[in-house]
Amino acid sequence: MSDWFREDLHADYSQGLRIDELLYDSKTEHQRLRVFQNPTFGRVLTLDGVVQTTEADNFIYHEMLTHVPILAHGAAKRVLIIGGGDGGMAREVLRHASVEHVTMVEIDAGVVEFSKQYLPTLSAGAFDDPRLELVIADGAAFVAETEARFDVIIVDSTDPVGPGEVLFTDTFYGKAKRCLTQGGILVTQNGVPFMQGDELAGTMRIFRGLFADAGCYIATIPTYAGGPMALGWGTDGAAGEVTLETLESRFAAAGIETDYYTPAVHKAAFALPGYIQKIVAG
Ligand code: SAM
Repeated sequence: MSDWFREDLHADYSQGLRIDELLYDSKTEHQRLRVFQNPTFGRVLTLDGVVQTTEADNFIYHEMLTHVPILAHGAAKRVLIIGGGDGGMAREVLRHASVEHVTMVEIDAGVVEFSKQYLPTLSAGAFDDPRLELVIADGAAFVAETEARFDVIIVDSTDPVGPGEVLFTDTFYGKAKRCLTQGGILVTQNGVPFMQGDELAGTMRIFRGLFADAGCYIATIPTYAGGPMALGWGTDGAAGEVTLETLESRFAAAGIETDYYTPAVHKAAFALPGYIQKIVAG
């Protein structure tokens, strides 16, 4: 009989992944961290009983939270990642040669250390890139205190329980906006609206009050089960109006090879199903 990991995220629904080999199971200073091997998803990272990322499908999530805002912006030089301890987000941001500096603020040094050791394909060398500055701190405290400004801010958080809860508050979003340059873009992971509609509704209510262009776009990621995931989008600039032609030329100029992101997918991701449109509109 094989062992199974049963996700502990929703009260009345759970997904299971077969554990072929348990590679790590321990408590960091902040969270219970497990890494195991699954035949379909490769190595799987879980925190406090919730799947965070897998070797096989992380490209979808990471490509869509990086290339969408960076290519829509068109001249992003300074990028802030909040969370992102597995290094996958930094990996994708740093593929843009035009990005000069990335600050990554992760609360849990344990996630970074264990990901480097057990999930090296996630960061793929990003932690050794001299453009990356890793700060071990609470992302909410960081945006409240820093004098630095960023063209793109990516919130790669856990769900709004435990240390991630603070990253879904109006105080945090307001302070994050304060750290954006003119025309800067804030993007966020906002869960799967079919399963976690309240999570998206809460962020959208705050974004509507904060940004001239507030909404979300979607991507379907197999291990975030229950339908497409919502990725929050907020800016006072015009990046949301970027045309397909402009995206195509910026994407070609960036010379990046992707497995999910394409300029057409970028544009299509902002076309929302009715049930998500209703949540965004409030
Ligand atoms: N993609 C995943 C998902 O949606 O399930 C989440 C990725 S995981 C890299 C999220 C990271 O956010 C974790 O490493 C966690 O330690 C970090 N985190 C949680 N709360 C934080 C906070 N307040 N400040 C900074 N990082 C935080």
